[in-house]
Amino acid sequence: MPRELSLYILVIILAGALSLFLCLFALLKIKDAPGAKPYIIVTLLSSIFTFSYALELSSTSLEQIIFWLRVEYLALPFIPVFLLLMCIEYIGHRIKKVWKYALFIIPFITIFMHYTNDSHHFYYKSMGLRGDSPFPIIKLVGGPWFYVHSLFLFLCVMISIIILLRQLKNSSFRFRMQISMMVAGLLIPILANYYYINGLSSYGIDLGPVSMSITFIFHGAALLTFQMFNVAPIARETVFESMKEGVIVLNQQGLIVDYNHGMRKVIPLLDEHTIGKSITSLLNGNQHLREIIDLKQDSDFTCSINGDMVHYHIGFSPVFNKSNLPIGQIITFADVTERVLMLEKLKQLASLDGLTQILNRTFFIKKSEILFDALSREGGSVSIIMFDIDHFKNVNDTFGHEAGDAVIMHVANTAKEYIREGDLLGRYGGEEFIVSLPNTALPTAYELADVIREKVSESISEVNGEKISVTCSFGVTHASIEAGDRGHSIQTLMPLADQALYAAKKNGRNCVRIIA
Ligand code: GH3
Ligand code: MG
Ligand code: MG
Repeated sequence: MPRELSLYILVIILAGALSLFLCLFALLKIKDAPGAKPYIIVTLLSSIFTFSYALELSSTSLEQIIFWLRVEYLALPFIPVFLLLMCIEYIGHRIKKVWKYALFIIPFITIFMHYTNDSHHFYYKSMGLRGDSPFPIIKLVGGPWFYVHSLFLFLCVMISIIILLRQLKNSSFRFRMQISMMVAGLLIPILANYYYINGLSSYGIDLGPVSMSITFIFHGAALLTFQMFNVAPIARETVFESMKEGVIVLNQQGLIVDYNHGMRKVIPLLDEHTIGKSITSLLNGNQHLREIIDLKQDSDFTCSINGDMVHYHIGFSPVFNKSNLPIGQIITFADVTERVLMLEKLKQLASLDGLTQILNRTFFIKKSEILFDALSREGGSVSIIMFDIDHFKNVNDTFGHEAGDAVIMHVANTAKEYIREGDLLGRYGGEEFIVSLPNTALPTAYELADVIREKVSESISEVNGEKISVTCSFGVTHASIEAGDRGHSIQTLMPLADQALYAAKKNGRNCVRIIA
């Protein structure tokens, strides 16, 4: 046997061994990766094909060559099908079972044609030994079905490449490397086939088997790197990219490893060039967010996006490697704007009186307590006004309860107009109101009460065509509070204001009285 041939047979045996190794490796290490099952089958088929081809090349007679050729054809026709299935699965697509089965029709016919060729010569027009080589090499002249098989093989590989390239176009930079590896793997046998078909390989030796094992190295590497994510790439991308939450992944040094589309709303500076850069360098203009990320503690964060206030809940999840060592952080930004607005609304509903939309009694007291706390800490003064509609029973009796409600609203609105920001106005009872005026001198409070009194008495509410005019009586009290003085509270001042109000009622109503 010439050295060149022995060398080539050795290379083929090594290629077969490599395919078998990749098959076993995939079976043991990456069998759950997307596309791994077809990969395991295709590497096994390829090693059967390759070893048989080595035996074909080392055969000494035409009969032996034909025997090994038939063994090769038990594996070869299925290789393109499993390659295609692997690529489809790899990018996360699914095909219907019928189509899967349909893909096997041509390979089965090919095997049948190959085995029964002697009776119809439909696969090979002729089979004979080449006269020009120093060792027995078969010369095959293809018949019609040989070309169908070749076309099918070519189409399967081309469709695989197209599927991968389309995915490459839509993929984020994250997966381009892996998909490119898959494509490169498929281009190798095409190139080898080009050499073989155009007679560029020595003595018409088929370069396919060797080229295929190189293909599988590429594919194995692509599969192995995806195994690291342990999810189908497309599933991962689809889920990751379409998540409403913004997600950013940082390594231990705070360098950006990955992010999704939602994250760009929060940090618009993120793009593929910022991968590998420090997150803090992107947050120079956003000190608050920077502090939150430095602290690595779940927090709420509000920012303005296109003029709208968006509320986020930021969550931190540490990422560990297999040895349980921390290797980074996944930071999620959940948009909780709707929830925050809903809570604000609920709070408002719980704090306001339904009829007048001013504070209800409970909330008035709660807010006043906070106010008194601040005054006790820092010192200051406070005035309290209490007022009550005069002879309100008459309004109800004369014009009905509904008209009474309208009058209560009218009085509340009048008072609302004259109190200042920071003052607290509440509905204390049915037709009784209360105002807390922080840091307001007694004369100022008296004046304010008198203005409201005058405005109410001068105004007329029109309800159902009836003109209703009411007056109110006012009681005012005041306290000066020194810093640290905890002797005053809303509870101690309310009875004084109430007494003053009682005095106003006794005095003939529609007036203001002071007890301080
Ligand atoms: P005074 O000048 O002494 O305050 O006389 P008044 O008639 O206003 O006295 P009183 O406090 O006894 O009467 C208040 C009435 O207000 C009794 C109640 O039926 C009515 N009232 C309480 N809450 C409401 C309400 O929400 N809507 C209406 N329409 N009436 C209410
Ligand atoms: Mg009253
Ligand atoms: Mg009353």
